[in-house]
Amino acid sequence: MGIIVYYSFCAVCSLVLLFLILFLIKQHNALHILFFIFVCAANFGYLLLALSASLSEALLANQITYLGSFLPILIILANSEFCKIKLPKPFVVLLLSLNAVQLFLVLSIRYSQIYYRSAYLGKYYGVSYLIKDYGPGHTYYLLLLLSETLFSALVVLYAILKKKNVAYVTVSVLSVGFFATVMVFFLERHIQLEVELVPVSYMLISILYLIISYRDQTYDIGTGIASVYEEQKNYVCISLDRKLRLMDYNKNASLVYPEVDAVHIDSAQYNKASNFYSDIILWVSHIKDGGDSELEKIIPVGDRFYKTSIRIRPRKLGYVVEMIDDTDFQNNLQLMVQNMKDLKVAEQTAMEASRAKSQFLANMSHEIRTPINAIMGMNEMILRTSDDTRITEYAGYIEEATGSLMSLINDILDFSKIEAGKMEIVETQYRLSAMIRSVVQMMSPRAQAKDLTFRTTVSPSLPDKLFGDENRIKQILINILSNAVKYTRKGYIHFAVDGEIAEENTVTLRFSVTDTGIGIRDEDIGKLFDTFERLDSRNNRNIEGTGLGLAITKRIVDKMEGTLTVDTEYGKGSTFTVTLEQRITGVGNVGDWQQTDPREHRSRERVTIQAPDMRILVVDDNRMNLKVIEKLLSDSQLTLDMAVSGQEAISKAIATDYHLVLMDHYMPDLDGLSAMQQIRKLNPAYESIPFVALTANAISGSEEFYKNHGFSDYLSKPVIYNDLIEVISKYIP
Ligand code: ADP
Repeated sequence: MGIIVYYSFCAVCSLVLLFLILFLIKQHNALHILFFIFVCAANFGYLLLALSASLSEALLANQITYLGSFLPILIILANSEFCKIKLPKPFVVLLLSLNAVQLFLVLSIRYSQIYYRSAYLGKYYGVSYLIKDYGPGHTYYLLLLLSETLFSALVVLYAILKKKNVAYVTVSVLSVGFFATVMVFFLERHIQLEVELVPVSYMLISILYLIISYRDQTYDIGTGIASVYEEQKNYVCISLDRKLRLMDYNKNASLVYPEVDAVHIDSAQYNKASNFYSDIILWVSHIKDGGDSELEKIIPVGDRFYKTSIRIRPRKLGYVVEMIDDTDFQNNLQLMVQNMKDLKVAEQTAMEASRAKSQFLANMSHEIRTPINAIMGMNEMILRTSDDTRITEYAGYIEEATGSLMSLINDILDFSKIEAGKMEIVETQYRLSAMIRSVVQMMSPRAQAKDLTFRTTVSPSLPDKLFGDENRIKQILINILSNAVKYTRKGYIHFAVDGEIAEENTVTLRFSVTDTGIGIRDEDIGKLFDTFERLDSRNNRNIEGTGLGLAITKRIVDKMEGTLTVDTEYGKGSTFTVTLEQRITGVGNVGDWQQTDPREHRSRERVTIQAPDMRILVVDDNRMNLKVIEKLLSDSQLTLDMAVSGQEAISKAIATDYHLVLMDHYMPDLDGLSAMQQIRKLNPAYESIPFVALTANAISGSEEFYKNHGFSDYLSKPVIYNDLIEVISKYIP
């Protein structure tokens, strides 16, 4: 009974092993499965033999057990696979033929005496077994078994000697199992036992085979690899077990890392100086030890870039390193990064150039203003003192030309400010009526000089007290009105101001300027607000201009969040309309806008200051500028002192108490700001006396700047006589 249990146990175990290999191993190898099927069948053969009642039954069962005689050839094939040796075809054919002869001999058992000369059924404790007298067929089997054992050993030896990649552990385990089975087989033949030991050895070798197959999953790089990648050119795949032993790799891996060919499969003996070690093994070992969580990185190899990733196999069976040739993308990326860097440098250079340009323009403007100041000041003196009409006529031309020059400089300066994004809107409280009056007073004489009718209509109900950038609005209107005058030969110019109360405390002002001038062609309207763009150059050849006015105007309007539109008919005339929203700060309407404020109108001849006790210190490093001020104030009765440097100003302030100081800003050694600060510290009286900045620094926002820095007022050069008188009169003690 115990013997039956023994055979049954071996048979059932073999069956379980067959199922295990089917379910445990994901990728099945036909050789493995066949091996397990044969073992299972052979072990069931032994059980049937033990249970058989007659000799013929026993012989049939015995034939089934001989399925085990084909296991050696399966092991040889598997071994050569593990050793990565491709057996020559004739060898395989020879082996198969020799096994086919064995099959034929086994099948002949019940019909001839080649295999067994005689066979009897024996009983051992009620269990059947065969008593055989072996014939030459069986000797053939023994020889076959011996030669196959030898051949298998030779394959392994060959692989080791030729330094092929040998899966040592696998091959050794398999060889041990195989030799053990063969030994058991020969032992049995020698001692003639009633109970067969072979089923146990089959079972053992099956268990070994199962373990190997399970491990073998780490060899098989195909397992679990995203097949998309496999298709890719230069795709590299390397399989490592959990101890970082090299398990398998594809052909591309040895092209990328030739040193991998020198590493034995199933070994972790890497050449530490090799790229393969430093790129891959070190990195995987960092991840393995938890020191590096990065599972993907770009590895440069030669002139290629590989996007490399590590996958940890399920159940921590090992690691798969996959590399995809990512050179094109990486090169593009590097190109992009380089382009970005170049762009940044170019941007930096452009910004520096722009800054240099703005600085240059500011300096230029400052430098040009100083001599113009002298020209205008002296010209003013000629106009005011000469009785010779020819001379005053010439001086009038000079005044006109210097005026144009000034507006040109202002335009360029404004433009550079806008370009540099530095143009600011400075809002203050102002009266709409006064603003309109000042614009009309400036523009209507120009229109009249060209025999053009200048009409102004202002809606009297508009609120008068507003909050906004009065100077900028004036600049917009003067620009548009100047153009209307410039580009109209005959007819009229109509300046209209109206608007609507938009919401509480705000009014949308609408300024429109209509002329009967040359008009603008439809195709030119798009270019109207472009910088340095002058239209219709044939018609406009004799009209002065830079093409900057409207570009600046448009940008100022935009900055104020207003609108600027044009309605024009070529040859007939144009209407430019500006809308701007302004805050209302007080009650009162514009009413009769022409009602002038007595302070606004001063004739050149009449206005002087008679204040002999008022001591004024004028500070400027340019002696010509000092002369201009002195001459402009020569009709007034004032006590004037001049200083040509900040230091001299301080000395004079120590010696005399002044009621007012007109101070230039940029001076060598000590500038106007520092000089003022030092004078203010001299004695308590100076802490509160007015300082007026007198400077060629006329960029917009300058007034704010000086007022914020302790000046009471600001006068830009060239100094306008009326402005000078107005400022001084404010501070008469
Ligand atoms: P410019 O300094 O040349 O006057 P602007 O920027 O002020 O520069 O104007 C650009 C161009 O638009 C002018 O050269 C002119 O051709 C055209 N233009 C501007 N205003 C008028 C107008 N009222 N009538 C006809 N053409 C105009």
